Amino acid sequence: MITLENVSKTYPGRRGSEPVQALTEVDLELDRGLLHGVVGPSGSGKSTLVRLLNLLERPTTGRVVVGGQELTALSAREVRAARRSIGMIFQHFNLLDSRTALENVALPLELAGVGRAECRERAGALLERVGLGQRAAAHPRQLSGGQKQRVAIARALVTDPTVLLCDEATSALDPATTASVLDLLRELTDDLGLTTVLITHEMDVITRAADTATLLAEGRVVETGPLAQVVSPG
Ligand code: ADP
Ligand code: ADP
Repeated sequence: MITLENVSKTYPGRRGSEPVQALTEVDLELDRGLLHGVVGPSGSGKSTLVRLLNLLERPTTGRVVVGGQELTALSAREVRAARRSIGMIFQHFNLLDSRTALENVALPLELAGVGRAECRERAGALLERVGLGQRAAAHPRQLSGGQKQRVAIARALVTDPTVLLCDEATSALDPATTASVLDLLRELTDDLGLTTVLITHEMDVITRAADTATLLAEGRVVETGPLAQVVSPG
């Protein structure tokens, strides 16, 4: 579903400083319908990987292929279309406090020009799906962290993407809330056949939820494969 082939990313150095090689010769295969964990310490290249997967950046060398499309070969217009097949959630939820939960979830549909009635219907269905049907009229400030992340998950999925990118999505949550959000991501990945990518600095998150694990260090993949193969039990 998502393939990175020999991907390297170098940022130009600022005046007088050396260029920064954020990723080096990364090969990854992320199959459809699975929850893929990517873990590494600060500076290991996680954010750069996120920006390559969500098409905010292009690799310096190598290929990124999502759903059979080589992203590196797309025009700007095609990139905008391809980005619609990718949903994203963040550490700090990135919800708009001026809008209700329902209006936050509906926003991507509104921006895509979907009519008001259909927006409300689809957003309402997704809120039900994440267990927040009763809080549709609440504003983000009235919700707990776990509830806010559920709203963000509903918003990420309302446009029916095939890929769900989770960037430190549980890092602001307590352990019990983290567990319930991971259970929800597991369920949605299975039911909707998503390719879910969990990017985190916390190994616990990966061992709890992921089907596959990739360890990044200093911009390189040091291990990748089925969870049990990469992380020894106990
Ligand atoms: P992580 O998310 O794991 O902390 P990053 O991808 O943010 O890793 O960073 C990897 C390396 O690339 C770090 O050395 C970082 O300072 C550098 N880096 C990231 N973004 C930029 C940028 N826009 N310009 C220059 N260097 C960058
Ligand atoms: P994170 O690791 O959570 O992404 P950072 O503080 O590393 O947070 O990066 C914040 C932003 O600054 C990112 O957009 C990243 O691309 C950029 N950045 C990181 N390191 C550098 C750097 N050395 N030079 C320029 N921009 C950088």
